Parts: sequence; C-alpha cells; structure tokens
Amino acid sequence: MAARKLAIIGGRVIDPVQGIDRVVDVLISNGKITGVASSSSDNAYDDYEVIDASGKIVSPGFVDLHTHLRDPGQEWKETIVSGTRAAAHGGFTTVCAMPNTDPVQDSAAVVEDVMRRAAADGVVRVLPIGAISVGQHGKQLAPMGELAEAGVIGFSDDGNPVADANLMRQALKYSVELGLPIINHAEDKKIGAGGVMSAGLVATRLGLAGVPAEAETAMVARDLHLADLTKARLHIPHISTIGSLVALRSAKECGVNVTAEVTPHHLTLNDEWVFGLKGEIPAQVGSEAYDTNTKVNPPLRSRADVEAVIEALSEGLIDIIATDHAPHAATDKVCTYDEAAHGINVLETAFASVFGLVDASKISIERLIESLTAGPAAILGRDLGSLKKGFSGDVAIIDPGSKWVVDPNEFASKSVNTPLRGVELTGRVVTTIYQGETVFDLRGAIGTFSEGVKAGAGQ
Ligand SMILES: [Zn+2]
Repeated sequence: MAARKLAIIGGRVIDPVQGIDRVVDVLISNGKITGVASSSSDNAYDDYEVIDASGKIVSPGFVDLHTHLRDPGQEWKETIVSGTRAAAHGGFTTVCAMPNTDPVQDSAAVVEDVMRRAAADGVVRVLPIGAISVGQHGKQLAPMGELAEAGVIGFSDDGNPVADANLMRQALKYSVELGLPIINHAEDKKIGAGGVMSAGLVATRLGLAGVPAEAETAMVARDLHLADLTKARLHIPHISTIGSLVALRSAKECGVNVTAEVTPHHLTLNDEWVFGLKGEIPAQVGSEAYDTNTKVNPPLRSRADVEAVIEALSEGLIDIIATDHAPHAATDKVCTYDEAAHGINVLETAFASVFGLVDASKISIERLIESLTAGPAAILGRDLGSLKKGFSGDVAIIDPGSKWVVDPNEFASKSVNTPLRGVELTGRVVTTIYQGETVFDLRGAIGTFSEGVKAGAGQ
C-alpha cells in the first residue's frame, strides 16, 4: 500500500500547544504530522490527497480522559467497535476506557484483552484505566504495579467512590511510585444515600429524593487532603459543585498536584432539564414529569453551579473537558426515575453542545479546544493533542456554522440515551482523521455504524 500523504488546506488551525491560530495547511505523511505550511494558492500538493478545510476549524484530534466503552461485559450497550466509532463521530481520536466493565479491568489479563481488541477493531486509540481496588469493591487494592506494566494510564473505581479513606491513601501512595494519577469518583454515598437527582426545588416539586452538593464536595475535600499528604497526583473526574471548586482552588494555591475535569452536560444542562422540557419549567407536573435521560452521577446541578463550572473552565481552574460517555440500553432508561441507570451518551454531541458557550462568549474557542486536546494530553503525559511535527496524524475538522438537530438514531453509538434528542446545536465535527486515515467524514458518512438495532431505539 502506498504511503498516504494528506494535506488539509485553507482551514483556521487552532493548536494551543504551538500557539497557532491562523489559516495554515496541515501536512500528514505515514500517519504522522510532518508540519504546517503557510496557506497559499501557489502550494502544489501534487502527490497529496487534499482536504479543503476553507471556512472550517482544524483542531488536533480530541482526547477523552473518561469514556465507558462497556466492553467486555455489556456489549448490548456499547462495544469497543461502536464506542470508538462514536468517538470518531465526535472528533475524538483518543479515548481512555474506564475499568467498570465485566470483568473489571483490575488485572493485566483483562487490560491486555481490551488493548488487543482495541488495536484490532477500534477506529481510534483506546487507553485503558485500571481499577483502584479488586473488583472495584473498595476493600483491597488492585495489583497496581501489574496494571501499570500492562499499560494503564491511571487508576479509578469510577462509579464506585473509594469510601475507605485509608485505602485511598494507600492507592495514592502507590501511584506516586508508578507515576500515574488516581481518578476517584468524588461522592460520599452515605451523604447522598437514596438520592436520584440534585437536591433542590426541582427534586422537591417532582417528589424525587435529592442528593446534596456536599456529597461531592466532602469527598473532593478529603481526596485533596490525602493527595497533599501523599504528594500524589489526583485527578478529579466530573467536578460539578461550587463547593468543590472552592476546595480545588485552595488546594491548587497550596501546590497540591491536582487536575480536574468537567463534562459537557455539567457545563450546559441544569437540574431543570430533569423535567424533560429541555430546561423549561412546566406549569404543572403531569404523568410524564421527567426525562430519565437526564439521570446522571454526579447529578445535573443548579444554575449557579453551571455558571461556576463554566467560569472555572474558562479561567483554567478546571483543567479539561471529559465526556463521561455512559451508554445505556432502553431498558435502563424506559422506567421510573428511581429505577433508571445513571449516565448520558455524550461522545457525539460533546463538542457541539459546549461550542454553544463559545457562541455565547462564555469561553474562547482556543480555551475550548485546549481543554479537549492539549489539556488532557498533558495529564496523560503523551505526545498527543497537538499538530506538532512528529505527532500522530490525529485531526478533527469542525464546521463552526453548521446547525444540526440531535437525532440519537443517527449515533454510531449503540445506545441513544441523551436528553439532547431534538435539540438544535451549532458547530459540528465534519471530518476526523486518526493516524492519517479518515475515520469519520460527515459527507460520505464514513464510519457510520449499522450493526443491527440500536440498544435503545424508540426512546
Ligand atoms: Zn464517575
């Protein structure tokens, strides 16, 4: 096979690592970036395949630190194949796979199996996250050294917070030796006991049990103190409350080695979305009083929390955006709010939903792209998230003017659990290139996934 040479020409290239924000051509050869060249009609790319990106934004491929691929064990919700295709549709060329699979990624054997199958069948890069504790039961540390050797990029019991503070302390201590972060789902389950959404007026009106913000904030504060004690690297997933931000700021000021992520839904949706009216408040609560697709952990928060996380992301207090892509089948969502599973299907709407904040002048496009590329790559410590010479040829091409309506039945994901069904978004990833190969193209619908019936088809 002839080596593919690709020239992406005429687009507005935004690469925060190199400080580039101007119209240049991006050149890729043998799967690697070979450089950027001033864009001009005199450029001759005779032996190149040329992609005309005029009017588009050209970004390094997005890196997601928090993805649930459900594989092995829940392949009716998502597989490595469908999940990586969903990633490609969303502009992501790297996803970090959370270990709450069945079996749990708590041994080298399971991690190596995921890596082997991802390399063979995935359309983008999959980096596994290892469990903190055996079976994610929070009783006994997983073989962290063995997992690190197998190639995990960090440790998490995501979904299950490490409740035992001393076990958390030990995990942090071992992680220092291994040079990898601990990612603890920050929730004190006892404070939040029985709650299914954020405590507040909406919960009261719907008669649903509420989780106070302090369930998150208390755990964030504990973890920050333990990270300080052990001098370990802590990464806080899906941060969502004002109180957590106060704790994060003071820890950062004290030099604690901590980073934090926020999800697209915590940046754009508040608890009023639970009513199922896309943020509108009903005059009266009827029999279809809520949308179970809004049930997520941590829960959608108050308007004030949403404004606070936006500001924190914009100024860099929150380091990055991560999706917490959590596909679920219809049976997990067509039920009462109490019974519904936690989680939102995010990969394919992530960029566009947050791009609305750029349109509203709440965050700059440069910062948004940084938080999806250079930011997560820095936490991983890998040569990703930039269009630097020699880096992997991973690119997302975005049409900033494109308006589209979210139709989950068009998702490459096997599941359709999004509260954004029917919502119009502006800005869309139109082409995704991974290692120099086009893995998604909206026009040709390359990468469109059609493996039988979607897990949650028909709402
Ligand atoms: Zn979580």
